[in-house]
Amino acid sequence: MLEIRNLDAYYGESHILQSVGLSVDAGEVVTLVGRNGAGKTTLLKSIIGDIPRRTGSIRFGSSEIIDLSPERICRMGVGFAPEDRGIFSTLNVHENLTIGRPNKTTGWPLERIYQHFPILKARRLQKAASLSGGEKQMLAIARPLYMGASFLLLDEPTEGLAPVVVDAIGAIINDIKSTGLTILLVEQNLQFAAEVTDRYYMIENGKIVKELTNLQMADEEQSLLDYLGV
Ligand code: ATP
Repeated sequence: MLEIRNLDAYYGESHILQSVGLSVDAGEVVTLVGRNGAGKTTLLKSIIGDIPRRTGSIRFGSSEIIDLSPERICRMGVGFAPEDRGIFSTLNVHENLTIGRPNKTTGWPLERIYQHFPILKARRLQKAASLSGGEKQMLAIARPLYMGASFLLLDEPTEGLAPVVVDAIGAIINDIKSTGLTILLVEQNLQFAAEVTDRYYMIENGKIVKELTNLQMADEEQSLLDYLGV
């Protein structure tokens, strides 16, 4: 579904991603791990077209998307839930969900969103500012589904959340995966990632240095945690 080859990305003169290659098959959950500053967010932003200078190839389905605008890439079905959750705190849940123009064919109707995220239904008239961290994260995940994403990029969805809320986010990810969604996840919480992911890539200084199966990750988890410093 997603195939990245020789991707280089820059902020001004800083060469951040260097010849990155990675693929995600339809229906998979793949997790990207790496230290702070390794380039994980830059990679997600490169996929959604939000890095001004990038070269190489990013194929989504049968289309080359590296030169497309963020709007086009979004309309093709690539959704992004950013690390800061990107929600409008002065708008209520319903307004946050419906602010974009959804793809009429692939966008989830509100009833379907609320079936999968009952807490958002209960909070629908509440201002986003008053939501808990977990509820904000659910809203950040629900928004691209409303828009019609078939491929979701999730940037550290469990950051700052209590363990019980992390479990709830894991249940949501497994639930939406079972509907056929494909997910590329950035995550430092390896215990959480193990509950949802099919395999891993490790990024170091802007380069993919390792690909790991779940089994390999289980063997290497402690040394990786020491390396990540988490
Ligand atoms: P973190 O979890 O800390 O966000 P990350 O792996 O997601 O880490 P990135 O945010 O992709 O890392 O950052 C990769 C590198 O790019 C870092 O050296 C960072 O300082 C640099 N960088 C990030 N955003 C910008 C920007 N807007 N302008 C210049 N450099 C940036």
